[in-house]
Amino acid sequence: MNEVFHKFRYINDLSILISFIMPKKDDDNPLEEIQKQLRDLMNNKNVQVAFAPFMQSMKDQAADGDDGGKSGGGSDEKKVEEDPTRDEKLESIREFDRKPKEIRDYLDRFVIKQEQAKRVLSVAVCDHYNYVRRCLDDAKLDEAEYVKPNVLLLGPTGVGKTFLMRNVAKLIGVPFVKADATKFSETGYVGYDVDDLVRDLVKAAEGDVELAQYGIVYIDEIDKIASEASRSGRDVSGRGVQINLLKLMEETEVNLHSPQDMMGQMKAFMDMQKGEKAKKGSISTKNILFIVSGAFDQLEEDVRKRLDLNRIGFGSSEEGVESNTQGINFLSQAETRDFIKYGFEPEFIGRLPVRVACDELKKEDLAEILLSSEGNVLEQYRNDFRGYSIKFTISNDAIEKIAEQAAEEKTGARGLVTVLERTFRDFKFELPSTPVRTFSVDAETIEDPSSSLAHLLEENRDQLDDSMLQDVDRYEEYFKREFGYHLRFRKTAKVAIVKEAIAENRSVRAICERKFSDFEHGLSIISQRTGKKEFTIDKKVVDNPDKELSRWVVESFEKSADSTSE
Ligand code: ADP
Repeated sequence: MNEVFHKFRYINDLSILISFIMPKKDDDNPLEEIQKQLRDLMNNKNVQVAFAPFMQSMKDQAADGDDGGKSGGGSDEKKVEEDPTRDEKLESIREFDRKPKEIRDYLDRFVIKQEQAKRVLSVAVCDHYNYVRRCLDDAKLDEAEYVKPNVLLLGPTGVGKTFLMRNVAKLIGVPFVKADATKFSETGYVGYDVDDLVRDLVKAAEGDVELAQYGIVYIDEIDKIASEASRSGRDVSGRGVQINLLKLMEETEVNLHSPQDMMGQMKAFMDMQKGEKAKKGSISTKNILFIVSGAFDQLEEDVRKRLDLNRIGFGSSEEGVESNTQGINFLSQAETRDFIKYGFEPEFIGRLPVRVACDELKKEDLAEILLSSEGNVLEQYRNDFRGYSIKFTISNDAIEKIAEQAAEEKTGARGLVTVLERTFRDFKFELPSTPVRTFSVDAETIEDPSSSLAHLLEENRDQLDDSMLQDVDRYEEYFKREFGYHLRFRKTAKVAIVKEAIAENRSVRAICERKFSDFEHGLSIISQRTGKKEFTIDKKVVDNPDKELSRWVVESFEKSADSTSE
């Protein structure tokens, strides 16, 4: 920590130095002078470390400047290769012409259920990007009545709230960032403040401010910054964070460099000095779409009570209400007054005109995710196994079992990952080093993965597998590359090694390394005597490596003695 402060002290010195030398050097080239002074100062070891990236960027700038920007060579070409997607993205924003149903249909490919959320989000997103397009068409456009359709997504964890928005952002080609509201501190305190979100968006757009200003910011756990005042008469920083977020969701300019980012500040300063047209140092939040979300557990209860009171009046029993209201998503019936009562500022909740609740995912929905959601977690496991040329089939019973166990986790679709990880963990470790290249997964595999795996290994104990034989070839290549001697493994030797690896449940490589650990030394003795570099390894050698090696060494002595006596 001390070291960091130490560096900051230098940075402060640096800014003082710059402000000091600027007026004196008006007649010279001030930029050159500053750069020279900076270089001198940075020769100090401490500063050099902290400023390495900055110095690099100065060097890069100097290199760019040297050829007068005419190069069109390597670096420019690289840029062209990397940039088209960015241009395409901007183009698709400028010419945004999607319709809500198209967006909904796209989301249907990935997100199971959440019909209402998909509909509402599709409309909000189309409204927003249609507005952005109109603004881009006509810079003077001032739709005073325009209310940005920032969204409040309600619902439990793992039901696809983030997943929905990530997919929307991907479809439209805008950058996306997500953060938890709980990590914000009020401006002025050390820590992450709400402006950092917008700066993160610029990072997500790889520094492209133009693209970042059309991005989507997603803030989760918003229910945790409800002011405590209305609940327990005690206020925490929640209200302050709400006010800060409020400004952001409206229209404000956010500095591209945080006040704590001294290096960024310096670079901005240098950029400003360098170019005639200084780069814009801030980003407007006018066109950034904000999505906030939270589980709002307590709110659900509040709304239920309010609705019950309205509905039942006096005289009905609580139990009767409970049984009549099962399965109703009360969050979808929350009104502005409920949110205010919950602890939100009226202005804050007012900036979130689009509100929609996501439903809990039931067992059947979780099974549906595995069966039809594109790129779902089961596909990821398939790909992982494919990396070792292993395939598996999975029965419907198994899918149902996974869904059933996942639902018990009560973490929405995240439960699927937990169950699959538990099921496949040992399979992933063991199978790549065995002959097994296909296996099937049924309900029993999910219920008792370790017995299923043991059974599978037992069934395949005597099978030989090409990939394991190839592991011997790989060892042969390694030995030649590393020590310069070619061990020519006969098929019988390879088979013996693979069988031993299977029997001992160890990798082929480990068996080879154990058997041939003394070979480098022994073969170098033989080679010195006879010049021999190639050695045939047959089953006899595998069965008794040290004995055979000793025999070869003795023979090499005999041979060289013979040849000297001749
Ligand atoms: P949250 O509602 O907490 O934001 P996420 O969207 O982050 O949950 O969900 C976690 C992961 O679970 C997603 O990345 C996705 O793979 C999967 N998932 C969640 N909900 C769904 C859904 N409705 N359909 C398909 N996959 C889903």
